[in-house]
Amino acid sequence: MSSILIVGAGQAGLQLALGLIADEHDVTVVSNRTPQEIHDGRVMSSQCMFDAALQTERDLGINYWEAECPPVEGISLAVPAPDGSGKAIDFASKLDRYAQSVDQRVKMPGWMEDVEGRGGRNVIEDAGVDELERYTAENDLVVVAAGKGEIVGLFGRVPDRSPYEAPMRALALTYVTGMTPRPEYSAVAFNLIPTVGEYFVFPALTTTGDCEIMVFEGIPGGPMDCWGGVTTAAEHLAKSKWILETFMPWEAERCHDVELTDDNGILAGRFPPTVRRPVAELPSGRLVFGLADAVMLNDPITGQGSNNAAKMASAYLEAIRRHGEAPYDRAFMEQAFEDFWQSYGQYTTAWTNALLSPPPEHVLKLLGAGNGSPEIAHRFVNGFDDPVDYFEWFMFPEKADAYLAAVGAVA
Ligand SMILES: Cc1cc2nc3c(=O)[nH]c(=O)nc-3n(C[C@H](O)[C@H](O)[C@H](O)COP(=O)(O)OP(=O)(O)OC[C@H]3O[C@@H](n4cnc5c(N)ncnc54)[C@H](O)[C@@H]3O)c2cc1C
Repeated sequence: MSSILIVGAGQAGLQLALGLIADEHDVTVVSNRTPQEIHDGRVMSSQCMFDAALQTERDLGINYWEAECPPVEGISLAVPAPDGSGKAIDFASKLDRYAQSVDQRVKMPGWMEDVEGRGGRNVIEDAGVDELERYTAENDLVVVAAGKGEIVGLFGRVPDRSPYEAPMRALALTYVTGMTPRPEYSAVAFNLIPTVGEYFVFPALTTTGDCEIMVFEGIPGGPMDCWGGVTTAAEHLAKSKWILETFMPWEAERCHDVELTDDNGILAGRFPPTVRRPVAELPSGRLVFGLADAVMLNDPITGQGSNNAAKMASAYLEAIRRHGEAPYDRAFMEQAFEDFWQSYGQYTTAWTNALLSPPPEHVLKLLGAGNGSPEIAHRFVNGFDDPVDYFEWFMFPEKADAYLAAVGAVA
């Protein structure tokens, strides 16, 4: 079997590592943080994963937190009326199968321990070009799954697949306890405030037990792009509550008694969504192979990054299985990436990028019709598990009209 080294102990790197170890490859994972540092550090994501992505973890027997983690049973969507008289769009539907979010501060240290327990190796090192030269000299394949780490700049940006050059949202996370649950069923409560941004919130499992994760997506320069002067955890929580009270009083209602899970349960930042070339050539001419966020980084607005990372790790595992004993050359790497991009990645990326711009007329019609049509609400909600479906009814005006007519919905 092959010796394979993976840079990055995140969703993609560790999931691929555990799959390869099960296939009896000789596997090393390089992480720039120890499991303890990850556990004790800042939150990194809201990491809500839908069923098809969760299934890729179940298939490897690494879904250790499934019984403990609260399920996310549905998704709701609210858009306020322009005149401030309540909500113009307000619907919810159940997911056919639940979603879940396990804090990466819980999951990644657990999986790193598993790498060692199952016969792989963890190396704690901040990988740069010199280290990659060493890894490629010593291993049959080097995969870079370093997320937003500086090292991913080695992979060239692909302008045709990266429509935005600047960050499209000012992002923030606030992990809290004490939120009033939705009365009907647990859900991602997604709120879209035109010209201001988006807010979504859902239950999750964190280092201290159950919590709710608030995700803020502020349009740059707008009132929700407001984290610049915030320096303490208490100020971050106060700012989170101010946003809800100002723009979403129905969400503020659920938050009278919220407290932070811990002082590290906060994050603020921004990045431009970027698709990169899957192969980087080192000065020696040897190659490294990019995986997940390293080469396909989307804005979190649609909550797809961890889902994509899990599915892409699974696709690369299958590609390595099919490849057998042949050398891992450029053709192998480019084909494995392109197969995933063509069958799945391009759709997630295009749908996510579409939601970062003001919605076109046909999308407003569809979402408005969702108010009175359980069929539309159900299809919209379940698309988060497989965004390819949006390209059959949601993404194009003609298909939207045909769909509205077929379900007999009134826009
Ligand atoms: C605010 C926010 C909310 C999000 N919410 C969701 C959501 O609800 N659902 C969803 O599916 N996705 C969500 N995402 C996206 C999701 O978190 C990422 O897409 C996912 O974590 C990507 O996994 P990865 O393995 O590619 O990279 P990462 O999880 O980023 O892991 C990369 C790892 O590599 C390490 N590393 C970096 N550089 C080096 C180096 N040079 N040497 C060694 N190690 C290195 C890093 O420390 C890190 O541990 C969100 C992201 C953000 C920012």
